[in-house]
Amino acid sequence: MYDDDLLIGVDSATRLPYGVSRYYSSLAESDDPERDPIAAQYIPREAESNHVPRETPDPIGDRRYEATPRLVHHYRDRALLLVNDRCATYCRHCFRRHFTGHGAGRVSGDEIEKACDYLSVHPEVREILLSGGDPLMHGDEEFFAVIDRLRKVRDFLIRVCTRMPVVLPSRITERFAHALSSRLPAWVVIHVNHPREITGELERAVGLLLRAGAPVANQAVLLRGINDDAATLEALFRGLQRNGIRPYYLFQGDLASGTAHFRVPIERGIELMRTLRRRLSGLALPTYAVDLPGGGGKVPIEANLVRTENDRYILRDAEGTERSYPRETEQ
Ligand SMILES: *Cc1c(COP(=O)(O)O)cnc(C)c1O
Ligand code: SF4
Repeated sequence: MYDDDLLIGVDSATRLPYGVSRYYSSLAESDDPERDPIAAQYIPREAESNHVPRETPDPIGDRRYEATPRLVHHYRDRALLLVNDRCATYCRHCFRRHFTGHGAGRVSGDEIEKACDYLSVHPEVREILLSGGDPLMHGDEEFFAVIDRLRKVRDFLIRVCTRMPVVLPSRITERFAHALSSRLPAWVVIHVNHPREITGELERAVGLLLRAGAPVANQAVLLRGINDDAATLEALFRGLQRNGIRPYYLFQGDLASGTAHFRVPIERGIELMRTLRRRLSGLALPTYAVDLPGGGGKVPIEANLVRTENDRYILRDAEGTERSYPRETEQ
């Protein structure tokens, strides 16, 4: 339905989906991904063909925690539904890049029924994350039908995980906001990585969501050459805070195949967070976190880095168990 706005194809070198909205590509000041933080997020680079052994197609263990097709139940009170595999722009750093844009398409009616059967016998689940891909690649009617079906099981809190306000802000219409306002409680989590993504259009889209009664939070990814310096992150988090968007997570880049060129050593991330802690309001500070490989789960890094060994970091997971994470230097 947004085909006029999107350029979609397959990158011939990596066989990975390529796609960008006209709007998002208009934010780039150069089409050289080595030089422009917007271009770097959507233009494929040769480095994507480099796979380092510690990388995996399933870096955060989605498959291991698949409860029913398309439903990932990893954390006790939250479950994640992969609503659609498509996105309005394919991020080159996407950690679900082996699902996203590969043709699995929309979640089917049958898959939704199976998910609802599972959820009806798992009362511990209180919150449903609608993710993908981008769940707002569904049209309004189909999107809200998913929420309405889930709410027949229980009065779930809904978390909409979408990059639309960043890559296709015109997707957030008055009509969409109005329909969302009758389905609260709902939170919207967006994905802004660079202050240049905070445009008047994004501010308008987020304003609609906030006035509809949906709090908005942001998950950024720490990306080399894009936002791995204190000044950029400071401008990013200040810009989010001013717009009523809570900086929620700053993620260490996941070990997704072909993304080593984006990753930043954890020591640098810790140092950046220390610097930001001195400069910014606590409300503007996200949690710097990593998703441990093999389904170990999300853990905040700062307080949980126990020690560093030659080739790995030892981090404490939520249960207090020590787990290892490969140590990388810039390559
Ligand atoms: C990240 C994630 C969540 C949400 O975790 P929060 O810490 O609440 O943001 C839920 N389910 C899955 C499978 C996830 O990957
Ligand atoms: S919008 Fe999200 S799911 Fe889609 S490519 Fe970007 S990071 Fe991946």
